[in-house]
Amino acid sequence: MSRPAELAESLLESGISAIKIWPFDPHAAEFRGQHISAEGMRTALRPFEEIRKAVGDRMEIMLEMHSLWSLPAAKRIAIEVAAFNPTWFEDPIRMNNAQALAEFASTTNVWTCASETLGTRFAYKDYLDRDATHVVMADLCWTGGLTEGRKIAAMADTYHRPVAPHDCIGPVGFAAAIQMSFSQPNTLIQESVRAFYRGWYLELVTELPKIENGYVYPTEAPGLGLELQKSFFERPDLSIRESRL
Ligand SMILES: [Mg+2]
Repeated sequence: MSRPAELAESLLESGISAIKIWPFDPHAAEFRGQHISAEGMRTALRPFEEIRKAVGDRMEIMLEMHSLWSLPAAKRIAIEVAAFNPTWFEDPIRMNNAQALAEFASTTNVWTCASETLGTRFAYKDYLDRDATHVVMADLCWTGGLTEGRKIAAMADTYHRPVAPHDCIGPVGFAAAIQMSFSQPNTLIQESVRAFYRGWYLELVTELPKIENGYVYPTEAPGLGLELQKSFFERPDLSIRESRL
């Protein structure tokens, strides 16, 4: 949000040609997401202007909206951002009303992407039935694991929709998402966070999936291909929660 052109150039240098940004988030609190001021709109559009000015259309830009907006406010934002030819609008409103998201999706030519906040294939079915999302985003750890993720991806495929697995919750979820990405014919793109896989992900696990020239490769060892580091279990800030059937 602070140096978007520089970041876009740096990502392109490492072969990454898509970026997700959320410059509208800081402006949601002012009117509790019900409205955005003209000044807020201008400020939030600036990163789009700067990225396009610096690298043109060599960088795809996704707008993450983090479900912070009312439907009319989200529609207004979509109209303004559409001029910058973004790839998708993600989670514009809260994911508890597929009809409302369908209305959003029908008012813009830009794809709608939803949503890592949905749980199990039954929630996704409602959104697919109503043409509320073009790209199906899923976080395996939140939606039911590899098995449920695979079912969600297959269901999206029957609606001719691509899937885009979520990342940001940790290296184990990232490794699992990549395995699923490679197993499904309708995978569009795998989300990744460079600051995480070059940063704190390395502190937790023995291996990370290889990322090279904008492509990620699955780990090759059995299972997810990584283990938690031994030192992880000696951390003073470690707390353990166990789920048992
Ligand atoms: Mg997201």
